[in-house]
Amino acid sequence: MRVVIFLLVSVLLAACETQSLRLMPAADWDAPAPDAQVTAATFREISQAIGKEARGECLRQNANQNCDFKIMVDLNPRAPANAFQTLDEDRQPVIIFTQAMIESAENADELAFVMGHEAAHHVLRHIARQTENASESAAKFGDLARLYDWDDADIEEAQKLGAEVAVQVYVKDFELEADQLGTIITHNAGYNPLVGAVYFDRIPDPGDKFLGTHPPNAQRVQIVRDTSKQFGLLR
Ligand SMILES: [Zn+2]
Repeated sequence: MRVVIFLLVSVLLAACETQSLRLMPAADWDAPAPDAQVTAATFREISQAIGKEARGECLRQNANQNCDFKIMVDLNPRAPANAFQTLDEDRQPVIIFTQAMIESAENADELAFVMGHEAAHHVLRHIARQTENASESAAKFGDLARLYDWDDADIEEAQKLGAEVAVQVYVKDFELEADQLGTIITHNAGYNPLVGAVYFDRIPDPGDKFLGTHPPNAQRVQIVRDTSKQFGLLR
């Protein structure tokens, strides 16, 4: 399947999705599809290199957070191409790749870039920041509803709406931030983010929808190119 939707990642939904997953550590995974371009051994190497680099970056930015990434493969053969980041019950960062995602990559740089992007969501505390934004906005909407003497049920609805609006407002910025830091992690781990970002050409472009969940692909590629200039990969 060539239609890849790895960016239908919701950092908020991810925590729920993990409940029903059958996961294996990337270090033990050894089941590439016959038509996969990247071998299981290469995927294991990428996991090791990106995991190490992401850990270093994570500790540099915030030594108090858990920086020991668990990189896992979802063994469900019917799961669509996807990768996402979540936290386990001990607040340890987990990055999950479906097998279809690994099989859909055309080279190691693409997988490294996707993994670097997911790791960057954790380094930049996106789940925690989403939660903070949502609760602040929920409180503001609730206060506004109280000013109008709304009843409790309506105040609760207003708070829910406030939380949803906050998530929508920041979600595109978070994606671009993750692309920028993901580019750096990918490069420092020894992969080429410019080659990796070619991946965007093969996923459906969300366009520039107001309150959409993802930025247009062109904007994402531009961030990767701009960031790559600092390594001299591009002039
Ligand atoms: Zn993302």
